[in-house]
Amino acid sequence: MFGMGKSNAKVYVKSSEGIKFTDVAGEDEAKENLTEIVDYLHNPDKYREIGASMPKGILLVGPPGTGKTMLAKAVAGEANVPFFSMSGSEFVEMFVGMGASKVRDLFRQAKEKAPCIVFIDEIDAIGKKRDGNMGGNDEREQTLNQLLVEMDGFGANEGVILIAATNRPDVLDPALMRPGRFDRQVIVSYPDINGREAILKVHARKKPLAPDVKLKTIAKTTAGFTGADLENLLNEAALLAARKNKKAITMEEIEEATIKVVVGAEKKTRVMSDKEKKLTAYHEAGHAICFHELATQDPVHEISIIPRGMAGGYTMPLPSEDKSYNSRTEMLEDIVVCLGGRVAEAIILDDISTGASNDIEKATKTARDMVTKYGMTKELGCICYGKDNSAVFLGRDMGHTQDYSEQTAAKIDELILEIVNNAYDRAETILKDNIDKLHEVAAYLIKHEKMGGEDFEAVMNGTYVEPVEAEDAESEEDNANTAENKDNE
Ligand code: ADP
Ligand code: MG
Ligand code: ZN
Repeated sequence: MFGMGKSNAKVYVKSSEGIKFTDVAGEDEAKENLTEIVDYLHNPDKYREIGASMPKGILLVGPPGTGKTMLAKAVAGEANVPFFSMSGSEFVEMFVGMGASKVRDLFRQAKEKAPCIVFIDEIDAIGKKRDGNMGGNDEREQTLNQLLVEMDGFGANEGVILIAATNRPDVLDPALMRPGRFDRQVIVSYPDINGREAILKVHARKKPLAPDVKLKTIAKTTAGFTGADLENLLNEAALLAARKNKKAITMEEIEEATIKVVVGAEKKTRVMSDKEKKLTAYHEAGHAICFHELATQDPVHEISIIPRGMAGGYTMPLPSEDKSYNSRTEMLEDIVVCLGGRVAEAIILDDISTGASNDIEKATKTARDMVTKYGMTKELGCICYGKDNSAVFLGRDMGHTQDYSEQTAAKIDELILEIVNNAYDRAETILKDNIDKLHEVAAYLIKHEKMGGEDFEAVMNGTYVEPVEAEDAESEEDNANTAENKDNE
């Protein structure tokens, strides 16, 4: 153990737990992002000599239980450097004035031990937006200010890498995200079907499973579970099996445990229902096909029905070029893409969901900007309607000043509605013309949860061939750690 002077922080030097990237299953994207940091810690000179500076701070963003803490420890474990760990709430639970001095201590120690990693878990506890109000939480603000001072106070290549984790990136003070601070964000997502299987494999290592237990099957039925939920699931199943004096966990315990995890969790863990999967699959397929069919839109990079970061399912385009301005055609087609999700729901399921609220907000905003900001309608001409007052007063959005007549206001509303309705009709035409593809993409998503750009293109071109699954090889592997004896009840 390593003394922290007056702050008594729970800090440990060697990554004695020895968590490695292989212990964190799935999360390939996050791991890839962090590998660079590990390489830097192994070999800082390589980076220094070529004039490359590492990000000073990395913010891990993702829902609770997805492995953020594990990833931070794994970076330390892989790089074999000291790991200083503190939780945001620990800073503010202290006596007044202690938070800031604790931050100071932490960084002093870290600089002595560099290269090293400083991990601040739950950074939202200290990093909330400063509201500038009198009588705000002084203690928290002082702590946050001290953190900012410390981050600015060391150079990029001093070998102290700061990693923070949060599930509330939206409440963080923007000052934390400025260049030279937490200037890199790594998204840690809910695991997809393959990720869940991989996580189950990790946690089933020391648990004897009966031959009827297929990890692949469990992975299929637990969409929406985090890594922590899956670990919990296997542990509950083991407890149930022990209670029944079984020598191995059977599917019966797994099923019982699944219910227990869903019901028992205080946070809103739940399994995505088949209905929900279908809805999300058609919704995202709707976006993707609109992307594909519209000339101004970028090619699809990835589609997923598993939430990522804070979003629900998503369809990610591959941006082909950086744009500093948008054309009218492009903005109109942006709106078509936005509405593609809702339109697909309406066509296929004959009902619509609340899942499109974000899309609708975006579509409306684009249409409003076209009318009031960019002078893109004949009817209202090249006039800027309504002064934007946001960010004027203490960063708070004070809304708009209406500097036009009620008549104009009504006309604005009318034109926005017209733009959005036209876009809706276009999305409907596109999806009806491509209805077979819509079914095909959705079916793929229901089965695999995620679809890469290549497979999507292949489906759209009619060249996609479903690979034959090596079902047998898979189950053999699954049963590698299955107990010899059958359970003896
Ligand atoms: P977070 O910090 O995101 O809330 P943690 O890293 O604390 O999540 O994860 C809690 C536990 O859940 C871990 O100790 C681990 O056992 C399990 N877990 C979570 N994600 C994974 C994963 N990707 N692979 C393996 N285990 C995981
Ligand atoms: Mg954590
Ligand atoms: Zn959508």
